[in-house]
Amino acid sequence: MGEVLKNYINGHWEMGVTTGTSENPSDLAAPVADYARADARQAEAALEAASEAFASWAGATPQRRADVLDFVGNELLSRRDELGSLLAREEGKTLPEAVAEVARAGHIFKFFAGEALRTPGEKLASVRPDIEVDITREPVGVVAVIAPWNFPFAIPAWKIAPALAYGNTVVFKPAELVPACGWALAEILSRAGLPAGVFNLVNGSGRQVGRVLVENRLADAITFTGSETTGKQVLQQAAARGAKVQLEMGGKNPLVVLADADLDRAVDCALQGAFYSTGQRCTASSRLIVDAKVHDTFLTRLRKRTRALQVGHAEERGTDIGPVASRAQLDTNLSYIEVARTEGAEHICGGEVLERPTRGHFMSPALFLATPEQRIAREEIFGPIAVVLRADDYEHALALANDTPYGLCAGICTTSLKRAMHFRRNAQAGMVMTNLPTAGVDYHVPFGGRKASSFGPREQGRQAAEFFTTMKTAYTCA
Ligand code: NAP
Repeated sequence: MGEVLKNYINGHWEMGVTTGTSENPSDLAAPVADYARADARQAEAALEAASEAFASWAGATPQRRADVLDFVGNELLSRRDELGSLLAREEGKTLPEAVAEVARAGHIFKFFAGEALRTPGEKLASVRPDIEVDITREPVGVVAVIAPWNFPFAIPAWKIAPALAYGNTVVFKPAELVPACGWALAEILSRAGLPAGVFNLVNGSGRQVGRVLVENRLADAITFTGSETTGKQVLQQAAARGAKVQLEMGGKNPLVVLADADLDRAVDCALQGAFYSTGQRCTASSRLIVDAKVHDTFLTRLRKRTRALQVGHAEERGTDIGPVASRAQLDTNLSYIEVARTEGAEHICGGEVLERPTRGHFMSPALFLATPEQRIAREEIFGPIAVVLRADDYEHALALANDTPYGLCAGICTTSLKRAMHFRRNAQAGMVMTNLPTAGVDYHVPFGGRKASSFGPREQGRQAAEFFTTMKTAYTCA
């Protein structure tokens, strides 16, 4: 991108102590950008700026907040192609997926522009006739936003937009794999009319910069999306000092295919759910649980379609699956393929490292026949690897679907309304899909899970107010 991408602290663009380079996983010979890494002192300075700016932003009119968010939303929407191309280059998502993600981020900002004018509240009757009781919502304070690399526009958007809408100030740390996307979002926010200090960007590693945001008492709330391992550390450190915490973590999402399903549609759901975005989605359908009566037919069709997927450069037309986002993630994927082989899972197809015209982290999507206790069927891999599990009948399929520590998203393919409704009621997941791939589809509805997948209130939609505001009960006697 030509220049070193800086941190944005208290209304100024600042260099860091060191610089890093973000790579293009489709073409390692064409790095995306050099960026300035903040150090612990700069992270603290960003928190101090956000703390200083809080009172004025909390007191800004809802209309003023709405105008800022509207500006950001409009800019993301009008620049979706250009920013989508940046996202495809830096994270490796295919261009259509990347453009759709930027548009989603734009819609999220516009949605919360509306919500800024609708901060929730409630009026209750008092037991005393001379008293009025109001439940009002106030901003929490300084919100630390710690984001993962796999949705570098949408996830920060669904944290930053509600934080600002309800009057909080923000310190945003993108994942180190995607600093240019984080910078592009910050650059728009820097022109949106916010007072200095209301929004701050600090690039740097989780261990250094992220840790400061979690441990420093100036961060009143921490909204984190990432792995379960990091999430648990964040929770421990933040809870120890009484900060408000919201965690969205991993998934090992089941997609159940029943004997009465439209099998072609089910194969579509499995293919998209398991392999699109290179399987690097917390909602990826990584466990395909198939009724024994249609197991072999389903598997034959899925294998054929999986092998036909085009793996290639994220920005090239015709690519179905872009590269894996990093060397480290590719190594993780390959290590699980080794684990699968050692544990005796049956290899169906894929899992090879691929040569392409450009040097990148390409691998073919992999399918294994597994048994429920095998690690490949239990642990989140976060790559284009799915397992197929055989179920004796619907009850067995449901039990297998719930047999996981995670509970983000669960799907079922069936033409039976009765089964679909039963599954909807009994799947232990925060989101349930019928005849759809496991995914978070809409930008204005709650997103989140249960069990080891999530902690704290939901993200997205009006329910986001739960985390980004704090409640006050006011008694008034005239
Ligand atoms: P990660 O390694 O846990 O990192 C997430 C963020 O935390 C990054 O910004 C990281 O910084 C930072 N971090 C690392 N150590 C930290 C620490 N000690 N203190 C504070 N921050 C720290 O996760 P990831 O590899 O980026 O993302 C993949 C994971 O995210 C998967 O498990 C996926 O399921 C999950 N995910 C969940 C959802 C959901 O909504 N449930 C959505 C998307 C992704 P650096 O990486 O820059 O060092």
